[in-house]
Amino acid sequence: MLKWEIYADWNPWHGCTKISPGCKFCYVYRQDEMYGCEVSSCLARKTGNFNLPVRKKRDGTWKIPDGRIVFTCFTSDFLLSDADEWRQECWQMMRERENLWFYFFTKRIDRFMDCLPTDWGDGYDNVLVGCTVENQDLADYRLPIFRQLPIKHKSIIVSPMIGPVDLSPYLDDGIEEVAVGGESGVNARPCHFEWILAVREQCVAANVPFRFHQTGAFFVKDGKTYRVKRCFQLSQAHKANIDFRIDKYMVPETVKYVWKDSDYHD
Ligand code: SF4
Repeated sequence: MLKWEIYADWNPWHGCTKISPGCKFCYVYRQDEMYGCEVSSCLARKTGNFNLPVRKKRDGTWKIPDGRIVFTCFTSDFLLSDADEWRQECWQMMRERENLWFYFFTKRIDRFMDCLPTDWGDGYDNVLVGCTVENQDLADYRLPIFRQLPIKHKSIIVSPMIGPVDLSPYLDDGIEEVAVGGESGVNARPCHFEWILAVREQCVAANVPFRFHQTGAFFVKDGKTYRVKRCFQLSQAHKANIDFRIDKYMVPETVKYVWKDSDYHD
């Protein structure tokens, strides 16, 4: 089990509407159901942690210390239209905490330009954006848009991978990382190892960092389907040892480290 103290989570709102095939067995919906949440998962609402990045402890230090990678809005989509009235405040917090790295993934990259703060320019230095694609159709729709956008740090997230994907036309120096993973949950659609290896080859050919993030619940290798328990989905992917240009912190190389090795434990 790996323990990472270089990360933090920030979910300013919770709940999301399904938008594409990758949403079918959305983790947020599954978690809400498991915990018996009374509010529908499709209704976005601000959380009690809305202003977490700018909160301080009693001693006056930040609750989230400088240097962390802050996984942002992982119980929704940061570009959800229902959250339009809240997002500007989030951009402000990101600007204020310039020594944190804010990393969000989105299936709504086509809304990006409508969601920006006025001082965005060619992007904030400390914001990383992952464009999620789950199959070829959505790669071919979202990635041409993504390529054109003014974002300083871009990654492509192929997850949940529900079919083979050819990313070759979209891989260039502007992509800092490709991360690939299967789907989790009891109803998960199977992910094939050969699809993952194909994306890896595309990344190696383009010299773009590649990371096999997780196997998903049903993993097909050499014609056999393996049921992988949730607790092993990350470690099994890690064991495949097929990452390319990814170091021990498993973040895009361009993220400037301020962590000490003592922050990192096996
Ligand atoms: S966009 Fe993400 S959070 Fe929203 S429904 Fe789809 S999978 Fe869930």
